Amino acid sequence: MGKTINVTRSSMPPYEEFIEAIKPLWETHWLTNMGQYHQQLEKELSEYLQVKELSLMVNGHMSLEMAIQAFGFPEGSEIITTPFTFISTTHAIVRNKMVPVFCDVKLSDGTIDESKIEELITEKTVAIVPVHVYGNVCNTGEIQRISDKYGLKVIYDAAHAFGVKYNGEGIGTYGDASVFSFHATKVFNTIEGGAVTFSEHKLYEKLYNLKNFGIRGEELVTEIGANAKMNELCSIMGLCNLKRFDKTVADRKKSYDEYIDRLSSKAGIEFFEENEDATKNYAYFPIIVSSSYELTRDELYNKFKSYGINTRKYFYPLTADQACFKNKYKTVMLPNARSLAERVLTLPMFEGMSTEIIEKITELI
Ligand SMILES: *Cc1c(COP(=O)(O)O)cnc(C)c1O
Repeated sequence: MGKTINVTRSSMPPYEEFIEAIKPLWETHWLTNMGQYHQQLEKELSEYLQVKELSLMVNGHMSLEMAIQAFGFPEGSEIITTPFTFISTTHAIVRNKMVPVFCDVKLSDGTIDESKIEELITEKTVAIVPVHVYGNVCNTGEIQRISDKYGLKVIYDAAHAFGVKYNGEGIGTYGDASVFSFHATKVFNTIEGGAVTFSEHKLYEKLYNLKNFGIRGEELVTEIGANAKMNELCSIMGLCNLKRFDKTVADRKKSYDEYIDRLSSKAGIEFFEENEDATKNYAYFPIIVSSSYELTRDELYNKFKSYGINTRKYFYPLTADQACFKNKYKTVMLPNARSLAERVLTLPMFEGMSTEIIEKITELI
């Protein structure tokens, strides 16, 4: 039956290149604290992502927590968000002592349904935290219109959307801030890592304090910050992976095209709608198992498992339904989010995936 095929596999630079790149650390003995490589990666990433400002962080989750914290919302404020996401999005809101208000998503692309946001706004609402889920771009224009009308902040969870351009602009330029994850399983990785992007320099200073204990001098602490800065080894991993990122995407595109070729005529297997104004990073390969397919999503998941192929029910259960949140917050009907959570399956997708693996997976379907 062969080896297990996992849903993802970390992209890595050639071993010798990485070893060569980290050598200087053995001369300087400078391993963290906003060193040379941290600064260099911040600069190169802001250029690559076409954003004005970028703050490099220890991981995507802390980037989200700090981005929300940076705006200084009063405790108990409400934040409108999506339940069809990785648990981190909701955790970041709740850990900031805010109340998540779950909005339904669109069946067409899994992103927040902008037509249902306004009815959820109360006098306690301070922000919207939408997610560019699987790299599918939210309706940023309408979300901006709503946030302007009601004076809300918009913080995008762009953890899936590294490198995506929308209307020719870096995805991180939308809203008041966007958050990226550079976790080992993401399309671009620094082993663990993340970043917040934004356009106001004031926010850079704020995030700098939050990620480094608020230390502003040998004897001066101006804010109650945490420790969320990226270290030099991770920064170097990022510099190496960034150099080859376009190659990574091209390789994933090849796999994506092979998948689509082999599955597009299969009855009962559907895909999210494509947005012609957005580029793709091919981070994930989600399929939607409809009722005209021979098996349910869960049956297909189990079938794959029995053949040593690990797929993921991303995102099931909805974050709103998880043990730690269930029945804690008032939840409106979430029919589309529930429907997707029951039917979506993400298939293996990683750099260096062979045609044979795709053949095996698609033939099984
Ligand atoms: C991965 C992810 C995060 C968290 O990022 P980490 O780097 O793993 O902390 C947040 N939101 C979404 C949607 C994610 O997929």
